[in-house]
Amino acid sequence: MYQLASRGEREGSIVDVDGVRFGEGFVVIAGPCAIEDEFQMEAVTRGVASCGAQMLRGGAFKPRTSPYSFQGLGEAGVELIARVAEKHRMPTVVEAMAESQLGLLSSRVSMIQIGARNMQNYSLLQAAARTGKPILLKRGPAATLDEVLYAAEYLLVEGNERVVLCERGVRGFDPQTRNLFDLAGALRLKELTHLPVIVDPSHATGRRSLIAPLVAASAAAGLDGAMVEVHPDPARARSDAEQALDLGAFAGLMARVAPAPKVAASPSR
Ligand code: PEP
Ligand code: MN
Repeated sequence: MYQLASRGEREGSIVDVDGVRFGEGFVVIAGPCAIEDEFQMEAVTRGVASCGAQMLRGGAFKPRTSPYSFQGLGEAGVELIARVAEKHRMPTVVEAMAESQLGLLSSRVSMIQIGARNMQNYSLLQAAARTGKPILLKRGPAATLDEVLYAAEYLLVEGNERVVLCERGVRGFDPQTRNLFDLAGALRLKELTHLPVIVDPSHATGRRSLIAPLVAASAAAGLDGAMVEVHPDPARARSDAEQALDLGAFAGLMARVAPAPKVAASPSR
């Protein structure tokens, strides 16, 4: 059994990532699919921070289906996101695709992402856990919830307790959405584990029109947060352009999940 990941009698765990507390309220992580250049990162970071996003995402080592697609800026991308995030005081999450990237990532970013394709790359999981950094573990495209929890167990058994799980859609049969967003699976995962569970409707659906409603549904259902792809100019995004929100759409999403506090009614006399 995955005894360390199991909920058992435990309360939900709180995972602290440079002051962002997963498991306490609804955390929104936003940023581009891929780190592209200074102008893009500055615009997107300023924009999402001003809308209330708590964390910045961006890929430097991109797991692309085709070897001819943009593969990310690599180490230069990590340096770029670290510099911009520091200026705007935003904690960061960046994916590690290989053990050789963990040294740089653990010194420059707040949280290390293990992407869907690597969920069952057990030596990468062990090495990532041993960095001691918080880990965002994404569900594999065809992974059962048991398999997700066994993957989490690989992290926990290394003594790293800062693990957040992410539902990002599973392989479906209908190309109308990129994957099948498994909201029920995410909720069931929360019944099975004490670890925080967030969602990624960007990769789950591949369609920008569906992202804000699914983030709102996930917040209403009691999940712990969402990761959303945002680009200052989606038409020019070098990866996942169809699912990128522009800053206006992201502001609209944030208004739905974190409505501004209501002005107190004036006291009646
Ligand atoms: C990502 O979040 O950048 C990503 C590649 O997602 P996934 O691993 O879920 O496909
Ligand atoms: Mn992407």
